[in-house]
Amino acid sequence: MDLVLDSLETAPVRRGTVYLVGAGPGDPDLLTLRARELLEHADLILYDNLTSPEVLAFAGPHAERRYVGKKRAVRVLEQSAINALMVGAARKGKSVVRLKGGDPFVFGRGGEEAQALVREGVPFEVVPGVTSALGAGAYAGMPLTHRDYTQSVTLLTGHDVNLIDWKSLAGRQTLIVFMGLISFPKIADRLISAGLDANTPAAAVRWVTRGDQTVVTGTLASLPSAIRDRGLKPPALVVIGEIVRLRREIDWFDKLPLRGQEVVVTRASAQAAPLCRRLRRLGARVMSIPVIGFEPPSEWGPADRAIRDLPSYEWLVFTSVNGVDRFVERLDMSKRDLRDLPPRICAIGPATADRIRALHLHVDLVPEEFVAESLAASFRNISLEGQRVLIPRAQEARELLPIQLGSMGAEVDVVPVYRTVLPDSSRQMALAAWSKGNPPDWVTVTSSSTVRNLARLLPMGDLRRSRLASIGPVTSATASEVGLHVATQASEYTIEGLVQAMCAFVTADRARNG
Ligand code: SAH
Repeated sequence: MDLVLDSLETAPVRRGTVYLVGAGPGDPDLLTLRARELLEHADLILYDNLTSPEVLAFAGPHAERRYVGKKRAVRVLEQSAINALMVGAARKGKSVVRLKGGDPFVFGRGGEEAQALVREGVPFEVVPGVTSALGAGAYAGMPLTHRDYTQSVTLLTGHDVNLIDWKSLAGRQTLIVFMGLISFPKIADRLISAGLDANTPAAAVRWVTRGDQTVVTGTLASLPSAIRDRGLKPPALVVIGEIVRLRREIDWFDKLPLRGQEVVVTRASAQAAPLCRRLRRLGARVMSIPVIGFEPPSEWGPADRAIRDLPSYEWLVFTSVNGVDRFVERLDMSKRDLRDLPPRICAIGPATADRIRALHLHVDLVPEEFVAESLAASFRNISLEGQRVLIPRAQEARELLPIQLGSMGAEVDVVPVYRTVLPDSSRQMALAAWSKGNPPDWVTVTSSSTVRNLARLLPMGDLRRSRLASIGPVTSATASEVGLHVATQASEYTIEGLVQAMCAFVTADRARNG
């Protein structure tokens, strides 16, 4: 019976199974495809302090997430309790992902967990991850096995310096010390006593591959005091060997245009990912604080009536991606479908147009400039006299567009298909972001509603300590209205335009300040 089920089962994730999954070193783009698939489908996810929030965000909506790491150096759960949790959940038929920072079998007890699963007869799979050691090599510009400098790499734990035979290591060419930041003064001493040259280059790398990656360099002799002076804290690796020198030549990560910039993304959580990802790839430290959320409109009556009368319209005008999505969802719930749409479709902005095209629909009109005003201008050459125009959009949108189209003779119906709200969780996140030592360098705003909500969320004095990057003139005008200065505005009113404007600003600023 089991066998038949096995061969028929095509689901990517099996119930009653534990997956020991490497979460990679931090940058969520370094997750494996298998890890992502498992996260999307698992029932229970057990994670610890080395797991990035962005990685956890891949979890499916129904997954239970449970933190089993350390809090202030105290383990929340003993290893035996974690094992019991995995085994118990699997026996109840759950699919369990045990997420481990880096690779599950490079330190961090993945081996012990696998042994426990074997003992208990629980089926499991091990998914490797990019270990922090490889992350440090790549993102700190240290080719771990450059053949001109080294023929070997040793990964070792600095947790208990008495367990290591330092003499046997002193001849090795690249050493990577895990869990050795606190004990590094002792480690350096032992290596030097064992015969390693005190001038051997060494680097400590904290939070490898993340936007806040920090590298402290020196020699075996000087690194301990450099670590202390910089106040570097775990988690960090220490890399020792001649290859550390190559950083100066091939470090690419530190040269990224937005490196070191802390950027707050205010878009709704469902829409934030592409901007966050783009910023992260440019080296920014990204914080997603959604100051806007989408809810159904107060009443569906007007939208439903418009859908019922859909064939009577000549034009359908969408002003946002969200408007397209919510309208089509509502259409799905009605007796009508895409075949009943009006003959002409218009979209504000390329993102809205793309969303319509993704439905395999042609877009007849996309205004040159991506603001409501220019849409009205684009309609000037088209006769709207007596034409019925439907605009499904946000409940609280501006009146300019329907008024202008109306003045051109159109009979305009505006129907709300969603309502924007200020999410409850955002206030706490915003207050925390602005109450630490340095305020965020940037806040990105991509619509008037994000600006208004931001102004409701935080005192102006706080907001003014960060630079505002705006997606276009309408958003910028709203910023001025609420009393905020816009540091830079996209020249093409798109996400990419916004990112380019920030890069240009930072580059110019750096050139000015040397
Ligand atoms: N399985 C993990 C290692 C777990 S042991 C891996 O493959 O990377 C925990 C130690 O790993 C930490 O003390 C630190 O030395 C190192 N480490 C893990 N993730 C790290 C990160 N993102 N940045 C720096 N060091 C990290």
